[in-house]
Amino acid sequence: MKTNVILVPLFGIPGSGKGTIISTLKKLSATNADIQVVSVEMGSHFRKLAQDDECIRQIVDSGNLLSDSTANETFQKLIQEVAANVLFGQELKNKVVILIDGYPRAKNQGENFLAFIRSKNLEVAPVFLELDEEISIQRSRIRRICPQCGATFSIKEHTTCPKCQKKGRRRPDDHSMAHRIAVFNDETLPVIKEARQSFQHQISVESNDLRTAALEIWAFFQNL
Ligand SMILES: [Zn+2]
Repeated sequence: MKTNVILVPLFGIPGSGKGTIISTLKKLSATNADIQVVSVEMGSHFRKLAQDDECIRQIVDSGNLLSDSTANETFQKLIQEVAANVLFGQELKNKVVILIDGYPRAKNQGENFLAFIRSKNLEVAPVFLELDEEISIQRSRIRRICPQCGATFSIKEHTTCPKCQKKGRRRPDDHSMAHRIAVFNDETLPVIKEARQSFQHQISVESNDLRTAALEIWAFFQNL
């Protein structure tokens, strides 16, 4: 049996719900015999590093991008770890989808990403999440992160962390949301335009309702 590996970069404005969509897709894949979903999550990786690294913390909290070389090296390291975990996993399903959140975010990273996938001859099928700036800002205001387990939740749905009942706090970079959106428009939108023209298989999804968005993306995976 040949396993088909597909890289799926998730593109979307900060606050478009990438983390929630990733966890929904993983839940769907857990009970599905055909599709395995794993992820490379750059943002949460750097937020973890930021706990012990003042330099990274300042950049992450400010909403600026880490340097291209840091982003490129980290991406390669994380994707190799994920690929190794999949290969050594007990069950290899027909299709393995590697979701990528937070990369590539700038022009140089986009070029590096293209060179990487060409050198490995990998299949890529990007997902573009569409969301109004205003809604993404509102969403970040009600988003909380658990200081204990790191889970993200909305205070609309939960007053405390649904896993460990700790009181959540705002993600530090959510305070710089307007700046993050400006950085996104300057640095990442050109990468998105390029990606829209580069890949045959792609999907654009409204991310107002994240459950519906995840189901649409899941259907897209089934047809890949
Ligand atoms: Zn928790």
